[in-house]
Amino acid sequence: MIVITTDHAAHDPDRFTVAGDARAYWEVPARADALLGALRAGGLTTKPTTDHGLAPIARVHDAGYLEFLETAFARWQAVPGSRPILRAQAYAVRHKAHRPDALLGQAGWYLSSASAPIVAATWTAAIGSAHAAIDAADRVLAGERYAYALCRPPGHHAHTDMAGGFCYLNNAAIAAQRMLDGGGGPVAILDFDVHHGNGTQQIFYERDDVHYVSVHGDPAGLYPWFAGYADEVGSGRGLGWNLNLPLPAGAEDAAFTAAVGQGLGAIAGKRPAALLVSVGFDAQRGDPAANLAVDAAGFETVGRQVAALGLPTVLIQEGGYLVERLGANLTAFLTGLGVI
Ligand SMILES: [Zn+2]
Repeated sequence: MIVITTDHAAHDPDRFTVAGDARAYWEVPARADALLGALRAGGLTTKPTTDHGLAPIARVHDAGYLEFLETAFARWQAVPGSRPILRAQAYAVRHKAHRPDALLGQAGWYLSSASAPIVAATWTAAIGSAHAAIDAADRVLAGERYAYALCRPPGHHAHTDMAGGFCYLNNAAIAAQRMLDGGGGPVAILDFDVHHGNGTQQIFYERDDVHYVSVHGDPAGLYPWFAGYADEVGSGRGLGWNLNLPLPAGAEDAAFTAAVGQGLGAIAGKRPAALLVSVGFDAQRGDPAANLAVDAAGFETVGRQVAALGLPTVLIQEGGYLVERLGANLTAFLTGLGVI
């Protein structure tokens, strides 16, 4: 299995808001370093990502949004007195809203949460992360059974035109679209990050060529709050192509792997040509970003369950914020998968 690495470290926002307080940012470069250490210890081959340009990213994301992400930091630095980090100050809300021309207005239009600020290296890192996902998709299209993209920043909270939850470009969605554009028919995405992938759901919600299945903590008590409920089943042509399996707070390995098994069963029923997995390790017991209680044995079981499906599989790294457990959990998952 090939591992695609990215040049992400300069994207390193300092603080964000949790429970009303400014805290140190959780989505840190050390996360990827920990994961990479485990991959190297497992003897896996790594390769830096290649530049695919914007075209495959624009297959998923809105042109105005991409222009905002690319130019926002420079526009912000032109504002007298600005700090080297751009945060939204007022958000576009669910009532009638107009996209303004002013930078701070656009920040509130395109950045949906306090956990998606823009620093100098955000655009470069986000593009590199998306390109890593494309590389992994291309490897699987070329015939490899598995490829893993060490994506940072993660992607599954990024909508067609909105950043949020540490995510800017939806790496899994971009890779899924790449797989579709490469031929072979419908694909499925299994997302076992503890947070619902509201961006991935939104991107494919009305489509019947990507089956999105998410196992996550109940959004009634966890980010992203506004999506991820069991009654969100797709609409229009996409009806029946979206499956949410929320779990109660405190759920452990047994409940987690049972839900993954249920999700993979649904995926098998759609007979997809390939599988993409949004790999998150924040269901880990004690992760600061969540409230489930999965341990390494649970992630190893998930790896076995994914392998048993027998599909060509693209692995896309998402969340996981208990840095000292990331390496062990990735090793467990890949052991279950049978690649190390
Ligand atoms: Zn997460």
